[in-house]
Amino acid sequence: LTIDIARRLELAFNRQIHVEVLSERFMNADEAQIKQLLFILLENGLKYSELPVYVEISEQERFVKINIRDQGIGIPERDLPHVFERFFRVDKARSRETGGSGLGLAIAKTIITSHNGQITVNSIENVGTTFTVLLPYYT
Ligand code: ATP
Repeated sequence: LTIDIARRLELAFNRQIHVEVLSERFMNADEAQIKQLLFILLENGLKYSELPVYVEISEQERFVKINIRDQGIGIPERDLPHVFERFFRVDKARSRETGGSGLGLAIAKTIITSHNGQITVNSIENVGTTFTVLLPYYT
């Protein structure tokens, strides 16, 4: 399943996304919701960066681990605790050009929580951002 998703993503985003698959576990998750989740994270990565977005699928303990890394504008440290809140957008001026509602990451978080997973973010301004998603795999 992870391989399928990875290949389809590369095609869907016209190869602006590089996917590396290091785990072939099946995720214990609703496929439509996982697609929506990945779509949100990938769209953000492409929206806030000029360069390709890197996806790495691996595993950690009993989870499939998905890293989505971009080399874009990053998120200021003070805003990191808020990015998963509804309607939160970093710096209205920079966000206005790119459009968006500030709902994407709140939806992503809801999907992950409902699957007993976790999402975290690491970011450095003007260097880039990495979102890490953990979702339980089938045993
Ligand atoms: P949408 O609801 O259409 O996705 P959005 O991108 O504004 O709009 P979120 O996806 O919730 O909303 O993201 C919240 C804010 O976090 C964004 O406005 C943006 O400032 C910041 N952000 C999210 N992802 C990234 C990223 N990869 N790089 C830099 N900033 C990001």
